[in-house]
Amino acid sequence: MQPVPDPFDPPWHTAARWQEVNAALVHLRQRHRTALDRCRDLARRLERRLDGLGPLMDELCRATCPDCRTPCCATALVWFDFRDLLFLHLAELPLPASQPRYPHRRHCRFLSPGGCLLPRPRRPWLCTWYLCPPQTAILRLRNICLDAEMKAIKSLRQELEDEFIAVTHKRLDETGEIDETHPQIAQTNMDYSNAK
Ligand code: SF4
Ligand code: SF4
Repeated sequence: MQPVPDPFDPPWHTAARWQEVNAALVHLRQRHRTALDRCRDLARRLERRLDGLGPLMDELCRATCPDCRTPCCATALVWFDFRDLLFLHLAELPLPASQPRYPHRRHCRFLSPGGCLLPRPRRPWLCTWYLCPPQTAILRLRNICLDAEMKAIKSLRQELEDEFIAVTHKRLDETGEIDETHPQIAQTNMDYSNAK
């Protein structure tokens, strides 16, 4: 009997689904290599922006996390979503071995005593987007507003997804080829939408 899916499971949370979605993205990336030039450019721009946020975010973490009584990395349910995966593939960054909580860990597998093991751009976007109250208080005191930067990153992520889907679907329309990979991507998109 198939196990009943838990609605709180992140997308691609099993080893098999994780391999499946990443294999599908590798396949599409190779198959549409030239047509995905713009996507690669968007991914590089995204990487630069995420990198640029790193020093400030690290400073905020150094100021707040060591004394935190309820560390978010130990309690929050985070996962790589479809845009995170697209970005990692198109920026050609190393892929994580699994979702952060696999297999049913109590806390994120990338959490170490010294903090997150992943460089900033390779973390789920949620981990960079989330600023806890003590961190927002520091930003407010220093008169720093990150709204525009966060908005720019969100727009790039959206653009990357739209462009990727437009390219891969357009090529299918043009060639009339049946691509066995697309049902997997469609399914993963559906999982992602359900999980949002
Ligand atoms: S980001 Fe905020 S909530 Fe998370 S561990 Fe650091 S201080 Fe705690
Ligand atoms: S990926 Fe890193 S920042 Fe995100 S929850 Fe895990 S340890 Fe924390």
